[in-house]
Amino acid sequence: MKEHDGGPPRHPLDVVVVGSANADLVVQVERHPAPGETVLGSELAVHPGGKGANQAVAAARLGARVALLGRVGADGHGRLLRESLERDGVDLGHLRDTPAASGIAMIAVGPRGDNSIIVAPGANARLTEDDVLEAAALLRSAPVVSLQLEIPLPAVLAAARLARRAVLNLSPAVPLPDELLALCDPLVVNEHEAALLLGAPGEPDRQAKELLALGPRSVVITLGADGAVVAEGGAVAEGGAVAEGCAVRAVPSPRVAAVDTTGAGDAFTGALAWRLAAGEPLVRAAAFAARVGAAAVRRPGAQDSYPTMAEVEGL
Ligand code: ADP
Repeated sequence: MKEHDGGPPRHPLDVVVVGSANADLVVQVERHPAPGETVLGSELAVHPGGKGANQAVAAARLGARVALLGRVGADGHGRLLRESLERDGVDLGHLRDTPAASGIAMIAVGPRGDNSIIVAPGANARLTEDDVLEAAALLRSAPVVSLQLEIPLPAVLAAARLARRAVLNLSPAVPLPDELLALCDPLVVNEHEAALLLGAPGEPDRQAKELLALGPRSVVITLGADGAVVAEGGAVAEGGAVAEGCAVRAVPSPRVAAVDTTGAGDAFTGALAWRLAAGEPLVRAAAFAARVGAAAVRRPGAQDSYPTMAEVEGL
């Protein structure tokens, strides 16, 4: 697969996603196996996934010009991942073939939709700081770089340093170095990730302020069916409750019949990154992203469930 030589892309980009691509290997089970136990499951279904690829597809399907910087294996799963990204028009000039197995997620789905997941990062774990530095021109060319944590932290940090604006979804949740936290604009977390970072669960408005106090330029907490809360430093968000120099604003999600919430956070973040790249204020971008997240839970799967712009407008 031909790669760019590190120069800027041929077309202007809205968003560069630096992140993971995984093949999701999904099996339905009557019940989850206990340690040492074997259970028979359904036929295997293989879907394109991984938080980086999901963000890229979510934004591209809405109409964003997106590139994905990452690594996949030169194997069948790698080809599946490339094909799905190409179908949605994601620029793959910086998706490198790697002498390792493609990342996979082994997903067992129980009768009530309860998942247990094992991720084998494979090629994703080989993404280095040097890979990111080699693509410096690409990263600097885009208004927003969108990040998550299924790739090594040094690569994430290098990308955030180069970004004109870094959006980081803290998933899977790990403690972040202060330098990386300070570069997030916004830091995007769900309720569990917020609790993990703060050491305890709590009321979302308060948690948003506490997260902001950790150093990011702005914070978004996604709240499933309840939408999201947005916190920004300074009294800038219109109508927000202003306290200690920070504004917190609730963003609702449309009511939908939720079928499968897999990948909803990735859809939210991809959409948010795109609207920020288009110059929208954070609160308005988050309101749009909440509609995209809501649209995505109406269908099963992750990327398969992501909406087009027409579907979001129809909500
Ligand atoms: P994650 O997938 O990271 O746990 P959430 O579950 O908070 O993230 O979902 C992300 C976004 O998707 C929410 O902010 C919301 O806009 C939308 N969403 C998720 N679940 C629902 C739901 N049941 N009804 C409506 N919107 C939802």
